[in-house]
Amino acid sequence: MSEYEVQGVGISKIAEEFGTPLYVYDGDEIERTYHALRAGLDKHVQMFYSLKPNPNVSIVSLLRRLGAGAEVCSLGEFKTALAAGVHPSRILFTGPGKSREELELLVAGDVRAIICESFTELGRIDALSRAAGKRTRVLMRVNPSFGVQGGRLTMAGRPRQFGVDEEQLLDAADLVRRHPNTEIIGIQVYTGTRILDADVVVANTGRIFDLADKAADALGITVTMVDIGGGIGLGYFPGETDPDEDVMVKGINEAVTAFRSRHPDAAVAMEPGRYLVARSGTFVTRVRDIKFSRGERFVITDGGTNAAMAAVGLGTAVKRNFPTQFLSDIDRPLAGPCHVTGPLLTPTDVIARNVTLPEVQPGELIGVHMYGAYGPTASIAYMNGQGFPAEVLAYKGRHHLIRKRDTAEDLLSRQIRVDFQDDAEPGALGARSS
Ligand SMILES: *Cc1c(COP(=O)(O)O)cnc(C)c1O
Repeated sequence: MSEYEVQGVGISKIAEEFGTPLYVYDGDEIERTYHALRAGLDKHVQMFYSLKPNPNVSIVSLLRRLGAGAEVCSLGEFKTALAAGVHPSRILFTGPGKSREELELLVAGDVRAIICESFTELGRIDALSRAAGKRTRVLMRVNPSFGVQGGRLTMAGRPRQFGVDEEQLLDAADLVRRHPNTEIIGIQVYTGTRILDADVVVANTGRIFDLADKAADALGITVTMVDIGGGIGLGYFPGETDPDEDVMVKGINEAVTAFRSRHPDAAVAMEPGRYLVARSGTFVTRVRDIKFSRGERFVITDGGTNAAMAAVGLGTAVKRNFPTQFLSDIDRPLAGPCHVTGPLLTPTDVIARNVTLPEVQPGELIGVHMYGAYGPTASIAYMNGQGFPAEVLAYKGRHHLIRKRDTAEDLLSRQIRVDFQDDAEPGALGARSS
């Protein structure tokens, strides 16, 4: 019998020490992934880790140490990046509904650039900059007219709440003149997420550069940054393969070289999220009960969609199983199909459907792999009083607790109980008390 290990430590020991359900991240894997992508890329490409898939401060700090900046979209993410040690000059701030408080902080804080999502927002940034006696760097986010094939969630070529339509931007010749307190340094385009085909990533990059050419002409600006977004996918399901990194890097580099021959001052920003962290994570959940219902086996665990919602089809039309593994004994022979479910009171609390697993016993551990991305941010943590699970980062052989699990007291601590005058006289259950 051999159990699953994370950096030489058995999963039962990790689960014993930190409890379940649990996210375990392999920091060395994040490091390998980052370096492998970075090493091949043109030196004018700058990496801004998108916090959306995993905003844990230690994950951001690790990526910062590896050389990444941060792409954030809220005060919460912004302060996380700062707490992780990311310098404001290495932060891009995006998001379609920025508050006045956020914009004031960004103008004062000298971030690398604000990614501006509308003309009215540009007006606000300009006014705040004038009041602060500053010029603020801005990337205009563009909703391009080209559609994009190959992503699992397409962002381009449709009506969207993000950015300014390409047609509108190219028609706004007086934009720079009307906003003397902003410096429009270039454009940003985010074309979609979970793009698995390297050629699609490369083709999108080329189209974004073409658009930057047009924007430079139409607005009369000197482009010093083009942000080609994130969205690089990884294979999750049978039949899916990771994008070919060599093809992707070579294609991006060629496009960058060509673009920089026309815009020699331009840096290129990338905002990968999922690609950098997904593979590093395993969601670990402990079996509590086994039952058979109308002939089907249900393996009921202590963590379901309250922690592993991404497995239920975020950004995918069809529900398919994330790679699910019996961790307590990776050699135990497979027994047959089952559904792995959680503790919530909803029939949709299923993290793997008809997945083939060995015979398992209560107390044993099941893992869902590829869980470093979007599990922590896209799950329904508060359903049925569960709260956020613990997070552990294994790095260079040491296992660090990087988030304590929520306790019942934590859930209650933000709530305020109204003192009803008449609640001293309880009536029968279901009856009025007066
Ligand atoms: C979600 C998002 C990202 C990261 O996307 P991934 O698919 O995780 O790489 C980057 N930039 C913006 C603007 C986003 O909304």
